[in-house]
Amino acid sequence: MASKLDTKTYLGNVINNELIPTPTTRHSINPATGQPLYEVPVARKEDLDAAVDAARKAFKIWSSTPFSERANLLLKYADTIEHHRNELEQLLTSEQGKPLSLSRTEMDCGLTWLRAFATMEIKDEILQEDDEKTIYSTHPPIGVCAGIVPWNWPILLGLGKLGPALITGNTFIMKPSPYTPYCDLKLGELAMTLFPPGVVQVLSGDDRLGPWITEHPGIDKISFTGSIATGRLVAASCAKTLKRYVLELGGNDAAIVCEDVDIDKCLPKIATLSFLNSGQICMLTKRIYIHESIYDTFRDKMVEFTKENIKTGAGTEEGVVVGPLQNKMQFDKVQNMYAQIPLQNWKPALAGTITPTPQTGYYITPTIIDNPPEDSRIVQEEPFGPIVPLLKWSNEDDVIDRANALRTGLGASVWSKDITRAEGMARRLEAGSVWVNSHFDVDPRVPFGGHKESGVGMEWGMEGLKHYTNSRSLWVWKRVFE
Ligand code: NAD
Repeated sequence: MASKLDTKTYLGNVINNELIPTPTTRHSINPATGQPLYEVPVARKEDLDAAVDAARKAFKIWSSTPFSERANLLLKYADTIEHHRNELEQLLTSEQGKPLSLSRTEMDCGLTWLRAFATMEIKDEILQEDDEKTIYSTHPPIGVCAGIVPWNWPILLGLGKLGPALITGNTFIMKPSPYTPYCDLKLGELAMTLFPPGVVQVLSGDDRLGPWITEHPGIDKISFTGSIATGRLVAASCAKTLKRYVLELGGNDAAIVCEDVDIDKCLPKIATLSFLNSGQICMLTKRIYIHESIYDTFRDKMVEFTKENIKTGAGTEEGVVVGPLQNKMQFDKVQNMYAQIPLQNWKPALAGTITPTPQTGYYITPTIIDNPPEDSRIVQEEPFGPIVPLLKWSNEDDVIDRANALRTGLGASVWSKDITRAEGMARRLEAGSVWVNSHFDVDPRVPFGGHKESGVGMEWGMEGLKHYTNSRSLWVWKRVFE
């Protein structure tokens, strides 16, 4: 194992265990400074074709490699990444903008996820057995899978697709977001040192690469994480070749806070989960419904807590919780939402500020909107930035209807001392993950996905792993024809 990973140089896309440079290159920027990072490849159609050819060849051997060998390689891969974690965490903060502490958390999760997947074998199930026959449910891998990754969690979401694809016997092509290609390319370089050629490949490109991948007839399944708008395009494109797909899309999670909570105990978590990663997480507390009897106290304490504890700055600065927005497109979108505050007469309980010099870092500080109308954009749309509305409720049925009213359904939570009541409310919430007295808990053994427009299919857990397989019913008759 090399002692240091070169995280400052252009090397190439990872195709068939070789680093393939491209005639054209591009770069992203460090969102904390506006400074360019180093050049990365712009994959051509022929690079994708070469990766698909290699993946198809590798599939024949990899799909029949025993589970224990695949698991061992996955564990060695996790060890190799861990060996280089410091360099990768620095690189993650410089390309994504998140505080170093959150880069460490992302790396911890990535490693935990890989190691958990290495223990998750989908075994054959006997559906029927009698003197004449045995009928099994078996799960062979699908073939060549591609993972399309967004810019908010490049390591965790990259590895969160790679691990399930590989452990179930598929070969895998990763496509990072053009905004955050650096760590994912390095993860590909590390994979080259362990896996057989064609098993793990990483292609970085421009906006043409995603559609090329979803259209490619040699790719059998797409695992996509990103926005709802792009998810629709991915589904339409996959339909042309009847590819399998799983879509993990946007959310606008409701957190329902009941009147009996201990505000001081639950507030730090709710407030932090409103602004973590500058609000750029699919599953944060994005609409906070607070019982009217505690609304004012909760609001005032949340403002105080946020002012004191949620520091904004460069991800390399000590104690920073909110880094810069990741890119100009996102900065402009959030800025547009902030511009609505005076236009729509929303009342800021905490008024955030927007840096006047975004060319040297996309900084926006947290904003809390005090009880805006239910039909306002800040309630109806996922802002994906450090701005959150607080809303009053008084009637249980009504607040559940309001929580369920949107076309999104990724996560939701209920906060109460009365666990029975809270669980009853939680069971009525239309979302792929629902928590009582928590939010945003994830685990590699627990399926993760969205209802309604927040997604199609699940990732992680045995259910998620099965999405990387075909279901095959195998009928074995014991009679022998002679
Ligand atoms: P995005 O949809 O713009 O891009 C996601 C990925 O898709 C990128 O790699 C991009 O290059 C690629 N892409 C873009 N156009 C494509 C096309 N036509 N065909 C194929 N691929 C294409 O999303 P984003 O801005 O990177 O991420 C933010 C969004 O992702 C938010 O809405 C957030 O809620 C959502 N998200 C969801 C989850 C989840 O698990 N549900 C997790 C993280 C982020």
